[in-house]
Amino acid sequence: MTVAAIGLGSNDGDAAGHVRAAFARLSELGNLVARSALYRSPPWGVVDQAPFVNAAALLDTALSPRELLAALQRIEREAGRVPTYRWGPRVLDLDILAYGDQRVDEPDLVIPHAHLGERAFALVPLASIDPGFAAQRDALPPGERAAVVELAPQ
Ligand code: ADP
Ligand code: MG
Repeated sequence: MTVAAIGLGSNDGDAAGHVRAAFARLSELGNLVARSALYRSPPWGVVDQAPFVNAAALLDTALSPRELLAALQRIEREAGRVPTYRWGPRVLDLDILAYGDQRVDEPDLVIPHAHLGERAFALVPLASIDPGFAAQRDALPPGERAAVVELAPQ
């Protein structure tokens, strides 16, 4: 079993609902040992779109990195994700941010996630449940960190 860090995001329709439903689906892939609060973050990359709801989870899983990627992509598809443009609106985005201490460097799978270090929307939720990422979060520009706002629990 390995603890994988998963990033969750949605900015289409009931974004918070999509992220909450995804937590439930993740728990089918192993032991969901931690889940962060939900955060609202400004759109990234392509800025002319709705804000995102983001979160992070720690999943203790027997799946290999590649099996985990396939399982996450299946959950994205079942949530109704359809391909748009790069960084465009999505019903659900599930990324493997880390997988224990392992590194993977393949054309379609890079772990730790290639953009983790520059993405406040991933690091702020993740560091809230895994202090091992606090230093990386704290290295982000303060304005970018502050733009990722915890949503009131409901
Ligand atoms: P992003 O998550 O960067 O906004 P996408 O979800 O559209 O963009 O990117 C999907 C592609 O990223 C997938 O085809 C997948 O193969 C690739 N990928 C590479 N590394 C990872 C990773 N660690 N987690 C999830 N997808 C990854
Ligand atoms: Mg993705």
